[in-house]
Amino acid sequence: MPQFQRTNLGILAALAVAGVLVFTVTGGPRDRATAGITPTATATTAHTPAGAVVATSAMVAAANPLAAEAGRVVLAAGGSAADAAVAVQMMLNLVEPQSSGIGGGAFAVIWDPAEGRLTTLDGRETAPMAADDTYWLDEDGAPLAWWDAVVGGRSVGVPGTLKLLETLHAHHGRLAWPDLLKPAIETAETGFAMSPRLAASIAAAQDKKLDLFEATRAYFFNADGTPKTAGTVLRNPVFADTLRLIGRHGSAPFYEGEIAADIVAAVRTNINPGILTPEDLAAYTVVERAPVCVPYRAYEVCGMGPPSSGALTVGQILGMLAGFDMPGLGPSPEAWHLYAEAAKLAYADRALYMADSDFVAMPTRGLVDPAYLADRATLIDPAAAMATPAEAGTPPWDEAARLAPDTQPERPGTSHFVIVDADGLMISMTTTIETGFGSRVMTRGFLLNNELTDFSRAPEAGDGTPIANRVEGGKRPRSSMSPTIVFRDGTPVLLIGSPGGSRIIHYVANALVAILDWGMDPQAALDMGHVVNRNGPTELEEGTEAETLAGALSALGHEITVRPHVSGLHAIQIRDGRLIGAADPRREGVALGE
Ligand code: GLU
Repeated sequence: MPQFQRTNLGILAALAVAGVLVFTVTGGPRDRATAGITPTATATTAHTPAGAVVATSAMVAAANPLAAEAGRVVLAAGGSAADAAVAVQMMLNLVEPQSSGIGGGAFAVIWDPAEGRLTTLDGRETAPMAADDTYWLDEDGAPLAWWDAVVGGRSVGVPGTLKLLETLHAHHGRLAWPDLLKPAIETAETGFAMSPRLAASIAAAQDKKLDLFEATRAYFFNADGTPKTAGTVLRNPVFADTLRLIGRHGSAPFYEGEIAADIVAAVRTNINPGILTPEDLAAYTVVERAPVCVPYRAYEVCGMGPPSSGALTVGQILGMLAGFDMPGLGPSPEAWHLYAEAAKLAYADRALYMADSDFVAMPTRGLVDPAYLADRATLIDPAAAMATPAEAGTPPWDEAARLAPDTQPERPGTSHFVIVDADGLMISMTTTIETGFGSRVMTRGFLLNNELTDFSRAPEAGDGTPIANRVEGGKRPRSSMSPTIVFRDGTPVLLIGSPGGSRIIHYVANALVAILDWGMDPQAALDMGHVVNRNGPTELEEGTEAETLAGALSALGHEITVRPHVSGLHAIQIRDGRLIGAADPRREGVALGE
């Protein structure tokens, strides 16, 4: 098992010192998974020997203890999972501002037991209507370099997270909307102790122009220009005011009123200005979409379809593995070889076909057609690695509108949370402002996303073929976010998801294989070292048991790289009438239950 030096106890202690949160902490400092962290108020919460958090009624797992606690309090007060999602997201915006918030976008997968219905909400950011495929080109027609594109208003898409939360609450909320914002408002006013991860993120982003914009600099840096450090108490009264306004009037001021005006002004900043208009904000809609579900052995793995590539790529990997005896092989080099080979083929299809299907013709169903995937799987040789890049296949499709592949990487800076309430309403939500600290532009106490860099910056391939994921007015950039709910015999058995850019797909698929095929407990599956292949080298997670695969995989012909894989998986398994929660040891999150 990996030995993660970073511990969650430091942050909990810091929070307690700030008087913000009181936890009872038991166990050694080595590893949260075995240390045991129990909030005092949850008498029915217990820990299994493996370290997972077990509850009987309701549960939340999120990337920061204050955010998870905000959700737990809502659930304990009789709130629904949707109510808790509002409280969790608003608190995440405050305490993990580098990763998500109302300045960004999100996808939620929702299981409604009352209606026996699974649906998804697409709160992805959109490009301004006036954007076209020259958006990311400089005067010479060359695509802008990554950081040149990220920093400033030009990368900001119309945010969708607030409207998504409002939609969730309108359909499934039980408590009053303003009350759900109170925990974040109070914490913004009294202050919270900055977590080690937030402090480290600020320090790391300083030379990535985090201190370029005045509001951002004033909030994250000291007067002498040094980054604020862990334990510093941060207050954000401006954000509290923003939330109060949203508490009173819902999302209206954000999309059409005074907050909208400030967003537009901030985006049209003089550094790398954007072209977002008030009309773009006013026109924003959250789209309810059918989930993408893929059968895998006895299970149905369901998640977010286009504009995310998440569920389709996870589904392709699993669909190709379905013909191999993964359960029998266990977590062996042979099994990881098959996994990496399936991943190469899946990422080839992802690059060529996947984008916002409202704008681009896409073989959505064909990509996860079982016969197609079985056929693709015949390209996998159990005895030898295929050369990379593997080529995309030709899924069954009426329209042969083949475009050119997108080769763009994405950068980390996102959050995933999972919630189950006492009535069995379940939400698996991945939420983002794209890279850490997004565009760096801050207004009204929150950061604005840089999601438009998730589009291909080049509009076409060298031969002039348009790229599916090119910029178009009103389009949503392709995502990798993979909020997932797994079913067995029509009943949900697992909620999971992660941040991590285009590696999200692997963090989720690794854990699914570990839990569904190898019978690992969710916490063990999240602790497990990651194996990633994005149609190139096979990447093994540094400092974990995954590194020991290097020799055997090299012998099979894999090009190996070893690197950190900072996932942020959060999961809840539903087993024998109990909720088993797990939080990624690589971040600061916890699972809390009732
Ligand atoms: N912007 C990325 C996406 O939507 C997520 C970035 C991340 O996870 O860090 O796929």
